[in-house]
Amino acid sequence: QPTVGVLALQGDVREHLAAVESCGARGIGVRRVSELESVDGLVIPGGESTTMSRLLTVFDLLEPLRARLKAGMPAYGSCAGMILLASEILDTRPDAEHLNGLDITVRRNAFGRQVDSFEADLDFAGIDGGPVRAVFIRAPWVEQAGAGVDVLARVPEGPAEGHIVAVRQDDVLATSFHPEVTGDLRVHRLFVDMVRGN
Ligand code: GLN
Repeated sequence: QPTVGVLALQGDVREHLAAVESCGARGIGVRRVSELESVDGLVIPGGESTTMSRLLTVFDLLEPLRARLKAGMPAYGSCAGMILLASEILDTRPDAEHLNGLDITVRRNAFGRQVDSFEADLDFAGIDGGPVRAVFIRAPWVEQAGAGVDVLARVPEGPAEGHIVAVRQDDVLATSFHPEVTGDLRVHRLFVDMVRGN
């Protein structure tokens, strides 16, 4: 049984813990370096990326987390978690830190005010059983993805059609949306399987 941590500084922590446990992993909240060291993989939840960035510094987790990512720890970032995992962030605060776990440029709050929260049914590469219902809450999108990054899903229609909203690079997965709020466990199952395979 793999141990999957959920970064527990801010955001949708409880929902992700419940989801990874439903997928057969042991879930633990991560607030300290000792907890980070004990996990086989880490979920970085949605919330507010600049706040989480500041709390990573306050809790002395920023460099330890960068080091574990660099050493190949599997990670899954949702929404603010995707922003934190990026190698470059557009439209953020100048002091916002990022983790460099994925070779992507993300645009924060990319969908703008009118559609800053919306839902869509996505074809998600590697997930069978029909489209994934995606809930976007002041979500980012991926503006650029490096050569080593697999694009797993794009917005299917509407003003943001074609924008990238799910990616994977090696053992790091990220979605612009919040799978923990729909009861559909398929994205978490994909991640827990990545952790098992690592
Ligand atoms: N807009 C938030 C940010 O910039 C992300 C929103 C979310 O995680 N639902 O961090």
